[in-house]
Amino acid sequence: MKLKVYVLTDNVASSVCKAEHGLSFLVVFDNQVLFDTGQTNLFLENARILEAPIHDTNYLILSHGHYDHGNGLKFIDAMKLICHPDVFNRRFSGKEHKYVGLDVDEAELSKRFAIHKSKEPVWISDKMVYLGEIPRKMNFEKNTTTFYLDGKMPDPILDDTGMVIVMNQGLFVISGCAHSGICNIIEHARFVTGISKVFGVMGGFHLMLKNNQTQKTIEYIKELQVEVVMPSHCTALPALTEFYQTFGGEQVKAGTLYTFDEQF
Ligand SMILES: [Zn+2]
Ligand SMILES: [Zn+2]
Repeated sequence: MKLKVYVLTDNVASSVCKAEHGLSFLVVFDNQVLFDTGQTNLFLENARILEAPIHDTNYLILSHGHYDHGNGLKFIDAMKLICHPDVFNRRFSGKEHKYVGLDVDEAELSKRFAIHKSKEPVWISDKMVYLGEIPRKMNFEKNTTTFYLDGKMPDPILDDTGMVIVMNQGLFVISGCAHSGICNIIEHARFVTGISKVFGVMGGFHLMLKNNQTQKTIEYIKELQVEVVMPSHCTALPALTEFYQTFGGEQVKAGTLYTFDEQF
């Protein structure tokens, strides 16, 4: 079997597809899962260019309730949507107090999607898992955010999650924004599956600077001997540079199909 990840939306454009601030991957293994939708209908346009089989995909995982991952929900329907109960919270950015939550209404959405809200992991197939709420265990991953809920309460973004694909050579972990910490997400994937070997990790790592958290994250991933390390979306250049210098690899671009053969 092959794992295919179609990058439908990411922050960097390719020669064939446009980009936006957002993330949307179509993940194909023993089932097909749309992981996030980006913030516009760009993911659909890019799926058409890439000939990604989005129209026979039945499952949609929403990594968390931020506009850049879920506003594309307006442009599709008739899927089973799996997400954390908090994704519909009204939420704001700290700096400008700008609304950054979803601009889709839950009641309206439930007319178009079968919504399965879960804090617990959900096995979508024998090999693909929605991880649910991520326990925050790593002391070097920040537990505070710059985001706010209505009433100016700090928003811990408890809904932030990822998915994991169980391959023969180890786990392949996919994150959205990793507000919950990319190492916490990897740890939870290992816990949920009972498999400790990690083959790949891809998606937003939410690391901006060359700082202690970035360094500790690199050490953790290195220790696990992860072969494929592909930070994208909300991983900023200073952090991205550190990852590239340690792990090599290529820059994730919208409009790319990444294929990973399962080893036996
Ligand atoms: Zn986010
Ligand atoms: Zn994001």
